[in-house]
Amino acid sequence: MIFKRKKDEVIIPYTLEQCNSCNAISKRKFKEGDYVFKNTETCSSCKGQMSITKIFGETST
Ligand SMILES: [Zn+2]
Repeated sequence: MIFKRKKDEVIIPYTLEQCNSCNAISKRKFKEGDYVFKNTETCSSCKGQMSITKIFGETST
């Protein structure tokens, strides 16, 4: 993965979580201690277990 960085461009890390039961996806800002496959919160729609599927960076605008 290649990031083309301009001067003063800020990359903000995000965490993508997915529910193991209903596959709902939620995106939030990365928190310290996050890693892929980590179990996180319970799903707000089905109370299933959510886990982190992806951690990625986006440039802020
Ligand atoms: Zn769910």
